[in-house]
Amino acid sequence: MALLLRLLILATPFGVPGAGLAQAGPPQLPPPRPDRPAPPAGELDQKAGGGEQQTVPVAEADEACLERLGKLGVTFEKRPAVQENSCRISSPVSVSALPNGVEVAPASLMECSYAEGLARWVAEVVVPRAREHLQSVPTKLLIGTAYQCRDQRAGSKLSEHAFGNSVDVMGFEFDKHPPLTIGFQTEGSPEATFQTAIQKEACTIFTTVLGPGADDDHGDHLHLDARARKGDYRICQ
Ligand SMILES: [Zn+2]
Repeated sequence: MALLLRLLILATPFGVPGAGLAQAGPPQLPPPRPDRPAPPAGELDQKAGGGEQQTVPVAEADEACLERLGKLGVTFEKRPAVQENSCRISSPVSVSALPNGVEVAPASLMECSYAEGLARWVAEVVVPRAREHLQSVPTKLLIGTAYQCRDQRAGSKLSEHAFGNSVDVMGFEFDKHPPLTIGFQTEGSPEATFQTAIQKEACTIFTTVLGPGADDDHGDHLHLDARARKGDYRICQ
């Protein structure tokens, strides 16, 4: 009789009161449950991953750049991407100070990667050369033009200013030296040596450096841009 009951219970599709079966059932059920949602979730993840593959690296690159700016000691604000006719900045930052507390006056809009170059120029070139030749450190970088949606001065190509990839440096202020305006400096003076050095060495960081001596347009400022050219070709004048 007991055997018959067991057979009946086993044969019953919905194990009813069969305590043994009821316990055997659930332990088997849970595993498939987590497994079942998993495949669709996996598919979704793959789809999402595939869709994001084009955007994530850019966003990650932006984030990495912003992180590097912070580590370099740059004071900046992240700004929304700029798109104005053919002018654009994909990862804009408004920079108000560079390493060593050098103030950027006025605060200027530029591409994050460009800000990195500007920060390096100030930290690796301007500060040490000012110490060396002027026995002083810069406190302020005077900016003429940073981002500007306009054509290149000579030619039809858009200026790097239109991509947040350039600033025009008009001069500097120092802690223990009178302000220096980019332009003609008395030959052989510490100011002339300083200006020549920072202009020349800017070309290790930027791809275009135009300043006094380059042409009539650049007699009163240093134009520093990061235009990408074939074969890392640079213009340094
Ligand atoms: Zn310029």
